[in-house]
Amino acid sequence: MSYKKILVAYDKSEQAKRALAAALELVEAGLGQRILVVSVYDAEAEQDPTFEIASLMAGGLINDAATAKKPLISELEETVEAEFGDKRECMELMALRGKPAEVIVNTAKDMNCDLIVMGSRGLGAIQAVLGSVSTAVLRNCADLPVLVTH
Ligand code: ATP
Ligand code: MG
Repeated sequence: MSYKKILVAYDKSEQAKRALAAALELVEAGLGQRILVVSVYDAEAEQDPTFEIASLMAGGLINDAATAKKPLISELEETVEAEFGDKRECMELMALRGKPAEVIVNTAKDMNCDLIVMGSRGLGAIQAVLGSVSTAVLRNCADLPVLVTH
C-alpha cells in the first residue's frame, strides 16, 4: 500500500522540516507518491509579537505581496528549494491564508490527500508536548491518518 498524496503542514520550523523529511522518506521507500506542502499564513497571529519574533528567528515567515515583500508562495518556494531542492519533483506547494488547523484539514480533504504529516511543535514559543495546530488537526481530522513527527 502506498499513500497517493501526502499533505505536509509546513510552518518553516525545524519540526516542520523534519515532517517534510519524513514524508520524503515515505516516498523514497515507495510508500508514498506525491507530497503537497501546505503553509498557512495566519493574519490574526501576525498581531502576536511572540509569533513575529519566532518567525523572524526562523527566517521570516511573514511576507506578502500587498506589503511590497515577496508573495507567500515564493517565500515557501525558496525555503523548500534551499532545503529539499533535489527532491522538488515529487512536491507541490501551496501557500494559503486562514486559521492553520482549519485550512490544513480542509485542504487535505479538498485535495484528496490520504495522509497528513506534521510536527508535534512549530514556531510557537510555549513549551508543550503538542502545539495548538497539531492538537486541533488531530482532533478535527477523524477521516485521515495523521503522522506527527518530533
Ligand atoms: P503554538 O502555535 O500553539 O504556539 P507550536 O507552534 O509549537 O505551538 P504548532 O503550531 O501546533 O506548534 O505546530 C505543530 C506543527 O503544525 C508544525 O510542525 C507544522 O507541521 C504545523 N503547522 C503549524 N502552523 C502551521 C502553519 N501556519 N501552516 C502550516 N503548518 C503549520
Ligand atoms: Mg505554531
